[in-house]
Amino acid sequence: VFNFSAGPATLPIDVLEQVRNDLLDWNGSGMSVMEMSHRGKEFVAIAEQATADLKSLLGVPDNYSILWMQGGATGQFSAIPMNLLRGGSTADYVVTGSWGKKAIKEAGRFCTANTAARPVDDVFTHVPAREQWNLDPNAAYVHYTPNETIEGVEFPEVPDVGDVPLVADFSSTFLSRPIDVERFGLIYAGAQKNLGPAGVTIVIVRNDLLGQALPQTPTVLDYQQIAAADSMLNTPPCFAWYVCGLVLQWIKARGGLPAMAERNARKAGKLYDYIDGSGYYRNPVRPSDRSWMNVPFTLPDAGLDAAFLAGAGEIGLSTLKGHRSVGGMRASLYNAMPEAGVDALIDYMKEFARTNG
Ligand code: PLP
Repeated sequence: VFNFSAGPATLPIDVLEQVRNDLLDWNGSGMSVMEMSHRGKEFVAIAEQATADLKSLLGVPDNYSILWMQGGATGQFSAIPMNLLRGGSTADYVVTGSWGKKAIKEAGRFCTANTAARPVDDVFTHVPAREQWNLDPNAAYVHYTPNETIEGVEFPEVPDVGDVPLVADFSSTFLSRPIDVERFGLIYAGAQKNLGPAGVTIVIVRNDLLGQALPQTPTVLDYQQIAAADSMLNTPPCFAWYVCGLVLQWIKARGGLPAMAERNARKAGKLYDYIDGSGYYRNPVRPSDRSWMNVPFTLPDAGLDAAFLAGAGEIGLSTLKGHRSVGGMRASLYNAMPEAGVDALIDYMKEFARTNG
């Protein structure tokens, strides 16, 4: 089966096999990782290795902290204003899709969350031109969503926002290509797309932004306290952390993020080229802003959707239904989706168009 789910998403088969091998007895310890104390030497070694691998893969500079948190990216929608307002009362949000909408709404509970840019009528098919953003020089930070998972809108470049800390929800494009971490005050991502199982949320934050959380910030959301405790302030999601570590090693062994980027660009390019040339399927996103990870597309008639999905399911092309808010189809092509999966999808789409055109 090729699983095109937007998340939780497909994991590399080699990683799943390693998990199966380790399941009852990790590395001769006689224990499953699920049974280990998070303070024991075995788990601490697993956790430290995963953090070191993430740091080296992304090239995270020494003046940043890597935090392994819980509560999902959604938890960060609140944690970010609580930690980063730093005495300020406003933050800027660039909204390019459904997740950005949720992020700004949540931030509005803590501060004045300005809409710095947002397409007219919330038609999310492009990234608004940087010159049109209405940034407040006194904002505590600027938040954006590099890849909108539902609409399939991805920023081709990191926007320049001057000296105001840039905060980015990388959930659905994390580890899909290299990131210049130094351009950001904070990067966050739920794990369940390119990194591992649900339950872990990565936060990479520049150290000078720590230590100024609102007084009422819950301890489990206070970056400074989590950093000081090496992300073991309370019991972390140990098993998920361990699986993330295996995925990081898998990425390293395959040439790291430059290799992921090359493969991801090729996979997505193939699918968009087919869609655009088909005269049958359609993707509404401006070509320069199309996501490498999530490719939404529609059929000429929504009445054909059920037949398309049923036929796909029969040949093992799973979870292609688009998000309920946009309809149509969506193929998510995360790192673990092999090129053969994209080829199989395109072959099926061709055949479907031929017989239903
Ligand atoms: N942000 C983006 C871009 C996402 O794709 C998602 C989930 O799909 C979220 C936030 C919410 O993540 P979580 O379910 O981890 O809270």
